[in-house]
Amino acid sequence: MIEKRIDELIEIINKASIEYYTNDNPSITDQEYDDYYHELEKLEREHPELVRDDSPTKRVGGKVIDEFKKVEHKVPMMSLGDIFSEDEVIEFDKKIKKTIKNPIYVCELKIDGLSVSLIYENGKLVRGATRGNGTIGEDITHNVETIKSIPMTIKEKENIEVRGEIYMPKKSFNLLNEEREKLGMSLFANPRNAAAGSVRQLDSKIAAKRNLSTFIYHLPEPSKFNIKKHSEALEFMKNLGFVVNPNIKVCNNIKEVIEYIDEWTLKRDELPYEIDGIVIKINDLDEQKTLGYTSRTPKWAIAYKFPAIEVLTKLNNIEFCVGRTGKITPRADLDPVHLAGSVIRSVTLHNEDYIKEKDIMINDTIVLHKAGDVIPEVVRVEKSRRTGKEKPFKMIDICPICGTKLIKKDSEANYFCPNEYCDARNIEGLIHFSSRPTMNIEGFGENIVEDFYNMGYLKNIPDYYKLYKFKEELKELEGFGEKSINNLLDNIEKSKNNSLELLLFALGIRYIGKKTAKILASNYKNIDNLMNASYEELVEIRDIGEVIADSVYKFFEEEKNIKLIEELKELGLNMNYLGNIEVDDNFANKTFVLTGTLSKLTRDEATKIIEDKGGKVTSSVTKKTNYVIVGENPGSKYDKARELNIEIWSEEQLLEKI
Ligand code: NAD
Repeated sequence: MIEKRIDELIEIINKASIEYYTNDNPSITDQEYDDYYHELEKLEREHPELVRDDSPTKRVGGKVIDEFKKVEHKVPMMSLGDIFSEDEVIEFDKKIKKTIKNPIYVCELKIDGLSVSLIYENGKLVRGATRGNGTIGEDITHNVETIKSIPMTIKEKENIEVRGEIYMPKKSFNLLNEEREKLGMSLFANPRNAAAGSVRQLDSKIAAKRNLSTFIYHLPEPSKFNIKKHSEALEFMKNLGFVVNPNIKVCNNIKEVIEYIDEWTLKRDELPYEIDGIVIKINDLDEQKTLGYTSRTPKWAIAYKFPAIEVLTKLNNIEFCVGRTGKITPRADLDPVHLAGSVIRSVTLHNEDYIKEKDIMINDTIVLHKAGDVIPEVVRVEKSRRTGKEKPFKMIDICPICGTKLIKKDSEANYFCPNEYCDARNIEGLIHFSSRPTMNIEGFGENIVEDFYNMGYLKNIPDYYKLYKFKEELKELEGFGEKSINNLLDNIEKSKNNSLELLLFALGIRYIGKKTAKILASNYKNIDNLMNASYEELVEIRDIGEVIADSVYKFFEEEKNIKLIEELKELGLNMNYLGNIEVDDNFANKTFVLTGTLSKLTRDEATKIIEDKGGKVTSSVTKKTNYVIVGENPGSKYDKARELNIEIWSEEQLLEKI
C-alpha cells in the first residue's frame, strides 16, 4: 500500500519536474507539487526501507537536454530546503544551534527565477550555465550575453565563478503574456517559467528581446579571495560590478530573521519582480563548512516560502468571451473574493478540455490561487462540497456575440469565431461611445476602453455608468491612481447630462452620424417620442431618407435596444434634446459674471444662453473672468471688473452677440 503510494508520488513528481524544469510548462501548481513532494518526504522518513535510489528527494531539479552543450559544475549547484511557517524557522534555528552556538544569519529575498552560474576568466565572461541536475548544467552563454545586468567584463582581471538568479520583471512578464495571447500562443504560468523558457532557447535573439535581469548572490569559492563571511562575498561581488540585491539584512538572532520575513511578506507586492520567499543563510563561511550539505541542499541555508495564497469561492456561471483573434474562452463568473491583494470576480477556464480535465461544474466551490502571484487560476474543485445542485458545463457552438457558427480544428483545444469583425466590433462600439464627437468622456482613450473590456469591467455601454462601483479596484491598476480614476468617474458622470443628439450618435445606430442625430433629436425632443415614431413619420422629416428611417425604426424595434435605453435611463442619462448648443467663439471657454438687474432677460435665461454657446458663468470676478455683463444698479463686481480691466458688456451688447 505505502510502497504503491511512494511509486505513485514519484511518478507524479517526475512528470511534473519534466514539465516544469525541462519544458518550462508546469501542469500542476507549485503548491500541489510541494504537497506531493512533502508527502513523499514524510513517507520516506517513516519508512526508510522503502526509499528508492531514484527518488526525486535525492536529486536536484531538472534534466539536461541534449540540444545544449553540457557543462560540469566544479562546485555542485544545489537546491534549498524549504519551510513554510515561523515555527519551522524557529525549528531551523534550534537545529543550527546544536552545532553553532551563536549563529549570525543573512536574510535575502528569494528571487523567483532560475539559477545561473557565470564564469569569468581574466575578468571576461566566458561561460553561463543553468543548474541542470546540479552537477551537469546546460551551456547558455549565448543567451546570458544578451542580459544587460550581467557584465561582460568585471572590474578586476579575476578568474572567478559567481552564481545568482536570472529573472523576468513582472512588467515584462505581463507584456510577454499579453503578446503571446494576441498571437494565440500558450501563456507562461509565471515569471520563473518565462525566464527559464527564455534562456533555454537556442536562438539568442529570443532571450535578448525578453528583458531579463539578474541578481548575484553566491560566490562558490570564497577562500580564493580570502573572504570569511557571506555578507563580505556579496559586497565583494557588488564591487566587481555585479548586481546584488540591495534588500539584504545581517540578522544577529532568529527574532530579527522573523522581523525580516514579516516585513517582506507585507512589502513583496511593491517589488517590480517576483519573490517566492526569503532565503536564510549562515553568515560565517567556516560555520557553513561545518554544517555541510545533504545530497541536494546545503544545511547552512533554508528557504522560507511564502504560503501559496489559496481561497475558496463559488463558481456561479460560465460565460464565453471572444478574443481579438476570435478565440472563445470560457470564463468563470465567481462570488468576488480577495486574493493576494486584489478582488477576483472572474477567472479564465481556458477551454473545454481544461474544464473537463478539472471536472468543473456550474455552482461548484473551487480553489483559486494566483499563478506566480499574477494571474488567478483554478487549482481544483472542492468536490466534497458538492450538493447535487451543480450543473454540467456545455460548450457552445455559436459565437455568443454575433451568432456565427464556431469552428474548431481537431488538433486544437480552442473554438474560434470565424467572423473577423465580431469582438473587435464590440470594442470599437465602446470606443465610439466615449469618443470626443459622441459622449466625449474625457480620459477614455482607446487603450483604456480595450483594457477595461478585456478585464471585464466594460463589457457593454451601461457598464460605463457602473464603473464607479469598482473604484477601489480600478485605482490599484497600473497607470492609475486615486486622482485619475476620480477624474475619469467625474467625466463619466458629466456625460450623463449630454444632449440627446450626442447619445443618439454614440449608440452607433447604422447611418446615424452627427448631423442626422441632431435632426432627429431636435425633431423629437426626447427619446420616447423618437422610439414611438413610425417609419412613415420618420421619412417625412427633411433630410431623413428611407435608408436612415429604416435603420432608426429597426433599431428601436429590437428588444435588446429597448432594454439598453431603459437601462441607460435608469442609470440617469439625459434623454432630452437640450437645445441648440452651438459653440460660438465669443463664448466658448470664456468665463462670464453677471451683475445688476437685467431688463430683458432673467439671470437664468442669460446664464443658459451663455452656457449653450459654450461659456461658463461664475459668481465672482477674478483675473480669469473674461466678461462682466452689467445690468441696472450693479454691485461691487462692476468695480472689481474695472479695477482688473475686464471687458464689460451691457445687456444689449450680450443680446447683440447672440
Ligand atoms: P527552489 O526554487 O524552491 O529553491 C532553490 C532555488 O532558489 C535556488 O536554486 C536558486 O535558484 C533560488 N534562489 C532565489 N533567490 C535566492 C537567493 N537569494 N539565494 C539562494 N538561492 C536563491 O528550489 P528548486 O529546486 O529550484 O525548485 C523547487 C520548487 O519548484 C518546488 O518547491 C516547487 O514549488 C517548484 N516546482 C514546481 C513544479 C510544478 O509542476 N508546478 C515542478 C517542479 C518544481
